[in-house]
Order: sequence, then structure tokens, then C-alpha cells
Amino acid sequence: MAENKQEKNVILYRAGLAAVFAWLFFAGCSYYFRFRLEPLVFFTGVSHFFIPSFILSIFSTFKNVKDGTGVYEIKADHKKINIKDLNPDEIRRKIIGLGCPAYRAGQIFRWVYEKGTESFDEMTDLPGEFRDKLKKCFIIGSIRPFLNEQSKSADGTTKVLYRLSDGEIIESVIIPSGDECTVCVSTQAGCRFRCAFCASGMSGFRRNLSPGEIVDQVLLAKAGGCRVTRVVFMGIGEPLDNYDNLTRAVRILNHKNGLNIGARKMTVSTCGLPDGIRKLSGLGLQIELSVSLHAAYDKLRQKLMPVAKHYKLERLISALEDFIRRTKRKITFEYVLIKGVNDSDDCAVKLSGLAHRLKAKVNLIPMSPVKGSDMESSVRAGEFLRILARTCVPATIRRSRGADINAACGQLRRQHDKFLSK
Ligand code: SF4
Repeated sequence: MAENKQEKNVILYRAGLAAVFAWLFFAGCSYYFRFRLEPLVFFTGVSHFFIPSFILSIFSTFKNVKDGTGVYEIKADHKKINIKDLNPDEIRRKIIGLGCPAYRAGQIFRWVYEKGTESFDEMTDLPGEFRDKLKKCFIIGSIRPFLNEQSKSADGTTKVLYRLSDGEIIESVIIPSGDECTVCVSTQAGCRFRCAFCASGMSGFRRNLSPGEIVDQVLLAKAGGCRVTRVVFMGIGEPLDNYDNLTRAVRILNHKNGLNIGARKMTVSTCGLPDGIRKLSGLGLQIELSVSLHAAYDKLRQKLMPVAKHYKLERLISALEDFIRRTKRKITFEYVLIKGVNDSDDCAVKLSGLAHRLKAKVNLIPMSPVKGSDMESSVRAGEFLRILARTCVPATIRRSRGADINAACGQLRRQHDKFLSK
């Protein structure tokens, strides 16, 4: 049974191709053996078999491309698969398929995620013959720092740019706190949602990141000496728009032989995709959910976030109520305070009403200046806090970490637009 959309698409694609080839074989044999097909039989065969299978194969190819998974999965079928793109169960199944005992999967997992090895040759507790089989089927892919571009803030926050295998650039932020650190990871190269205050949306969408590319951002932070205890999916891109790869990455990060990061220590931040929120609530993981609200009524929200034109607040709220009921988790509303736009007392009262209804926490965020936008940060966070406190809504003002290094999402990447367009 196919586990996800990618696998289903590939199965559809293969089924379509197989059917086309079967028909061609049948037609070829008929001609070779001089069997004359009656015109009626021939046209019935074309209409009932060849055309649907041809359409199936074309449809699945387009669906792969639309889902942003086609290049990755179909390429992976012909080339070697990045082992970091597979979750623990998938690795186990592949290992069994290679004729090796299932427990070897745990050993591979420990080499890749605990020891950070990048070569099968270093896996010295695996038999040489098995390592050769692995090398024939898999690679251990890795993202690389881009031009060694790294910005370190006075408060210790570090922003890193990474180059992916196809030249795309993403960024990650490492936020230290005592001897622990949080890694803010990207889930897409670019973003299609174009929120008015966000640098990531301004460069448009390029592609989804694979699970391995998401996990690698945490692995590389760990390799740099960080004790990673928290992961927030708040970097470039909308995580729920890359749902399958996001959830694979979450399972790898959460796995005891992976990075062993508790689900409650991972936060998915969304601009508010109701369908993705509902799917996430059925995942069976106690993951944290943060919703970029930025306005508590439709008209203003639509001005700031084009996605709100498709998903009205009531639809979003209903998905959030569902999430809270099924997971028993509290959600957080993120609210960027923009001067003269969403910082009036009336906005605070509306926000307070919504947060009270969902028993949500509120995180007020000072807006980081974005090149190309004339929006400015508001100084009314204190007034907002007082209004929220009146209705007993728990609220905090997010400490602005890394303000001196353009740590807001997408800013450093945008400085390299000249490279991106190459
Ligand atoms: S805030 Fe999030 S969803 Fe909106 S454009 Fe930026 S990355 Fe995309």
C-alpha cells in the first residue's frame, strides 16, 4: 500500500507506462504473426485500453510535477536514493528488499544521524558485501554551506545560507539559549504565499525541500557543535504546503535512532492552511502548532496575507478547533505588529476575542524591516499586552533575536537573488 502521495504518483505513472508497453507489445505480436485485427476490435482496444493508460501516465506525471515531488521521486527511481529522504520504516523495508536483516536499518540510522557519517565505507560494523549493495542503491546526500555565508549576531544567533544540489539557496537560523539551541529550518526554496511583510514570499516559489534537505539543516547545526533541543519549522516556505516531506522529516527527527527530538519540542508554523492543519491533527504526534494570524478579521488579514482570500477566518478557526480537540494541544497565534496597519486598540480587542475563544497563546512579534517594503514595526506591543491581559489571554512579546544580522525569514537569501537567478 502506498504510504504517501509521492509513492502513489509513482505507482500511477508506472502502471500507466506498463499498460502502454503491454498494448504496444500486443499490437506488435499481432502484426508479426499476421493476425489481422478486426477494425472494431482494434478501435475498442485503442479506446478501452491504450487511451486510458496513456492518459493515466500523463496525468500522474503532471500530478508529480504539481505536487513538487516528481523530479525528486522519478529521478530517485533512476538514480540513487538519498537515504536521508527515507523514514525509518522505509529504510527497513528497503534493507529487507536487499536481502539483509531488518536490524541493519537501526545501525545505518545511527551512523547517519548520531555520528553524522557521509560515507557507507565508514559504517564498519556492516559487512562489506552489504555496504557494496547500499552504495549501488543509495547515496548519503548533504546540503552545503553557500559561499561559507554565515552571519553571527551580537546575541549569538547565527544565520546560515545553504546551497542545495540543484543550486537553490535556503537559510537556517541557529538560536542558542544556555548550552542548548533551537534551529529554525526552511521547508521550501521560496514561498508561494507572498505575505506583505515577509522577504521570503517576495522572491516567489522555487520548489519543495526533500525530507533529507530539511533534516540536514538540523544535522549540520549539530555537527557545528550545537546541542539541538528544539526545531521550529518557521524558516523559508510554508511547511504545510510541503506536507509529506515535512512529516517524514518530523518522524526522522523524532525517531530514537534519528535525532531523538521530542515531538513537543518541534513547532510547525503555518500561514493558515485548514486542510493541512486537519491532516496534521491526525498524525498522532504531539507537535506544537503556531498560526501566523497578523489580523483578527478577514478584511485586514486579506490585505496582509493573500492566502486569507482563499481561506476565510471562520474556516481556519474551525480547522484549529478540530486540531485542539484531537491533539489536546494549545496553539499559538503569531502576530507581527505593523505600525498604523494592525496595531490599533480595536485590532487588539479582536485578537483577544479570537485567542480567548480558542484558549490560544499569543506571541507578539516586532516587525523586522524588509527591503522593498515601506511597512514599519509598531511600538504598541505594551498596549496590546494590557488588552490581552484583561481577558486572561497568555501573551508574550518575542525577543528580537539576531536583528542585527537580518535574521527575519528570507532576508539573507534575498541578498543573493543575483545568484538565484543564475
Ligand atoms: S510568512 Fe510564511 S507563508 Fe507568508 S510569505 Fe513568508 S514564508 Fe511564506
